Amino acid sequence: MNGISYNDLLNSVKGYINNSKDLELIQKSFSYASKLHKGQKRQSGEDYISHPLSVAFILSEMKADTDTVCAALLHDTIEDTSATKDKLEVLFNKDIATLVDGVTKISKMNFSTRDEMVATNTRKIITSLDEDVRIVIIKLADRLHNMRTLGFKSELKQRENSLETMEIFVPLAYYLGAYQIKGELEDLSFSYLKPELYTEINITLEKTKAQLEEITYELLQDISKILVDKNIPFELQSRVKNVYGIYKNMSRGKKISDIHDLLAIKIIVDEIKDCYLSLGAVHSRYTPINSKFKDYIAMPKTNMYSSLHTTVFGPNDRLVQMQIRTRNMNLIDTYGLTAYWDLNKGDAATTMQEDLKTKFQFFKSLTEINALTADNQEFVSKVKEELFDSNIYVYTSKGEIIELPYGSTPIDFAYKLHTDIGNTMVGAIVNDTLVAVDYILQNKDRVKILTDSLSFGPRDEWQGKAYTMKAKRMIREFSR
Ligand code: MN
Repeated sequence: MNGISYNDLLNSVKGYINNSKDLELIQKSFSYASKLHKGQKRQSGEDYISHPLSVAFILSEMKADTDTVCAALLHDTIEDTSATKDKLEVLFNKDIATLVDGVTKISKMNFSTRDEMVATNTRKIITSLDEDVRIVIIKLADRLHNMRTLGFKSELKQRENSLETMEIFVPLAYYLGAYQIKGELEDLSFSYLKPELYTEINITLEKTKAQLEEITYELLQDISKILVDKNIPFELQSRVKNVYGIYKNMSRGKKISDIHDLLAIKIIVDEIKDCYLSLGAVHSRYTPINSKFKDYIAMPKTNMYSSLHTTVFGPNDRLVQMQIRTRNMNLIDTYGLTAYWDLNKGDAATTMQEDLKTKFQFFKSLTEINALTADNQEFVSKVKEELFDSNIYVYTSKGEIIELPYGSTPIDFAYKLHTDIGNTMVGAIVNDTLVAVDYILQNKDRVKILTDSLSFGPRDEWQGKAYTMKAKRMIREFSR
């Protein structure tokens, strides 16, 4: 990774900010940070300022607002230099000071320190989402640049940082919908955690590359023709699954050629109706695999990802996934919440914060766990267990998707919908069949909770039949 210069950053920023006042503020942040970090070096031997510059550059590629770019340039000044929050507020503005302070409070984590410290820090990262999601986004960009330059650290540090990235930052990126960052963080961590496997998969990929390229070329030509015929304006992109994603499939016993989305073609169109028209066109040309069709437009994922997915038999009977979406969907599918900077321009920060609270399902669970736990270590282990580990997705009777930790029962589902529903529940129907309240919910189950306002409330023994912290706690509270 070559060093980013201030000019690189400026050119990137000028692609979407042209107000001279904003550009002056960025220039001022850079000068101030350079002055404060003067003489400090990174382990790579570069001047320290190269790090905040790179973090700001990553954010400018996401079209981050001026305050975020400035805060990225200044993000290590409170921690590593004489700067203070008050001083930054006087010199710059309140938002920039708050962002830098927020990033600083999430101080450098270290697995070799006592668990309690790690837990405290993790909790800070996660709860700062509530304060201003931009703090977490800056932290993600900071982590991304540190992972890109991890080669200069000791082997122990490489492993520690990679583990931490997998445990905390990858799930965060996923929940914010930032798939591009998630994929890169996974591959970087994987290359340090399992270097032999990482190399092995890359070699295998290299071998199939020529064939994949040929297929991609053929498909792009063919699909272009079909869509031109139908008069649908479009753009085509292709992507090969990331190394870590391939590894996960192979560790479940799949051969590389059996991975249904190893090669994906993205069909990007202007309007939603064109998504469905394109789907019809693709299906009339290539045979789809029935079970792999997903309509995430009608039912977006819980992190707001929306797209049509279909896997078809492509040239040479090679499986190919088609991802069909509009331009705006594609931005959200790639950058997640950070795409709002592009979509909502001036008002992005407020809209992000509001949508995070109302539309992104994990945020509500996080807030609940946060409110229910005083102990930091318990908080972190609960978040990992309920949010960062394997989850299942079930449907309400209205077709809404609800995300729950694996092991959840209808009791958890009921309390997840609403405390009152849990408290008046008398039974549950899953896929049209009456089930016991301790039935373990499976992916794609359709769940309907039977309630009776005259019920005596949840029974004490349900505590042992529930999985989530919220349900257990609510049952305990009810019986008091
Ligand atoms: Mn940093």
